[in-house]
Order: sequence, then structure tokens, then C-alpha cells
Amino acid sequence: MNKFYLYKLISDCDNEAAHIYEHLFLRAAQQALVEAGFAPGLYGWQNGATYRDIILLECGFYDPKATKIFAEFLQQPVEFDPANIAQAVAVISAEYRGQLTYDPAVLAAELARIAARPFFDLEKTPILTRFSREKARAGSKIVQVKSQKDHYHKIALNFAYRQNNLEEIALLFRLWPILYDQLATLINQLGGYIVNVHAPSFNPQSDWLTMGVEVGFKKGLVSKPILLQKIKRLQRDFDFAQHRQALQTYAREFRDNIDFAHIPEEIFERTGALVSRQKIAALLTPENAERVWQQLRCDISTT
Ligand SMILES: [Zn+2]
Repeated sequence: MNKFYLYKLISDCDNEAAHIYEHLFLRAAQQALVEAGFAPGLYGWQNGATYRDIILLECGFYDPKATKIFAEFLQQPVEFDPANIAQAVAVISAEYRGQLTYDPAVLAAELARIAARPFFDLEKTPILTRFSREKARAGSKIVQVKSQKDHYHKIALNFAYRQNNLEEIALLFRLWPILYDQLATLINQLGGYIVNVHAPSFNPQSDWLTMGVEVGFKKGLVSKPILLQKIKRLQRDFDFAQHRQALQTYAREFRDNIDFAHIPEEIFERTGALVSRQKIAALLTPENAERVWQQLRCDISTT
């Protein structure tokens, strides 16, 4: 597994524009990987955070090919089209529960200025510097944010699996990160922002393993039946057999990388099932994954 810890210096940039840039960058990087045949959740992960002085990125890739694609992507100048900018703005609006207004040409110019800055490798940073850890974004001259909390609501996407055996519980624990990334991709495409994550846990009273996310959406942006339909389509259409090799790499990394050594303990605490990484990795075949994935039930509620 290859990890990247990167940062970009932005003290003299517009902070809201930098936040929009962070969202655009992560989405464009994922898009580059998806175009190369990788499925969200299976190749690794990318996280970002924007502070007043720096943008921090933390990315991990299971597959050397995915690492190479990301490393190449980092070297290329990224251009963002108006549709992508509008989508990133919609997601951030849901994140803030507020309306963002800006002059598109001014924003585009600032995004280009931020994009032109290099990312530095945190591992190779020779100096010790104190930066602000504030995420406060007051004082943007480019993006005006008007709080509109009443215009946003939360939708809970609840997944449940009727457990038949312990193997399925163990399997679902490693399928959840894949499902989560695919959901996050879908939700961002629809202009929603994930507010809370509920990792799999087993309720002995009901015999169900449950998991899910809570999403902030602008009211009226997407109806619950349409959202449910899109999630069902995502479940139905995802073909594990098509990603056999990526799933193997995912399973092998999970089994061999020390970073995942704590997961069996987490599974035990959340479900009572005692299982080794070795066993879970052996269970992660396309056939098993497909069977369990298709039987996951989803329902939606407004919270
Ligand atoms: Zn954000």
C-alpha cells in the first residue's frame, strides 16, 4: 500500500476558493482513477481538509497502478469546468447549510491560481512551522456565504442485513468501506454532504447488522424515492466479478498490512464475532461479496 501525505500553502489565497479547490481536486483525482477502470472504494481512499493556511491531503492506494495514476495526476495541471465547480459548490452549500454566491470568472481565476501551487510531501518537510488549525472561513472576498439552515435537511440512509452466519458479518465489515465510498460518490454527484457515518454494528435483539450514513441535502433537491432508486441501481449494477483482481488486492492488503490489525478487535466490539484478517480476506471473493451485497436492504428516512 502506498500513502501520500501532502499539503499546499494557501495563506495568501481566498479561503473559500481553497475549500472549493480541495473538493474539486479530490473529485478530479477520483475521476482519473475511475476512468482507468478502478471502482470507488476498491483502489484506496482520498481525504482532504482545508485550513486557513494549508490544504492537507491524505491518500492511500492498495494497487501500484492506482498509485502511479495518482502520482501522474498530481503532476498535471488540473482545469475545472463550470459544471464541476457548480457541483462542488452544491456539496459545500450542504456542508455549510448555506447559500454560496460568487462571480464565476473571479472564482475560476482564483481556483487556477491555487491549482498552480505545488503540493509538498509532508514526509519531506524539513522545517517546523506553526499554522493555524482553524477551519474558519470568515473574510472571503470571492465567495459570500449566507446561512440558510432552514433550507437544508438531513436524510438517513439505513442499511440492514439479516445475519445468517458469522461469515457474512465478517464479510460485511470489509464490504462496508466499498459501499461507503460508492455512496459518497453518488451523494456528492447529487449535491449532498455526508454528515454522519454509522459503521456496521450488530443488534442482538433484532438479529440485524445495521450500518448507514446521514446526509445533508438542500430541501427539494432530490426526492427520497429517487434517491432510493439510485442506491438500488448502484447495488444492482456493481459487478464484483468485473473487479476480481482489485478485490484480491484489497483483500491481500487487508490481510497483510499492519494498518488493519485493529479491525478484528473492532468487529468483535461491534458484533461479538471473533474473526482473523486471514479469514476475512479468504471470504472476500466476488461471489461471496456479490451475494451479501445484493441482500443488503436500504431504507431512507428524514431526520
Ligand atoms: Zn468540505
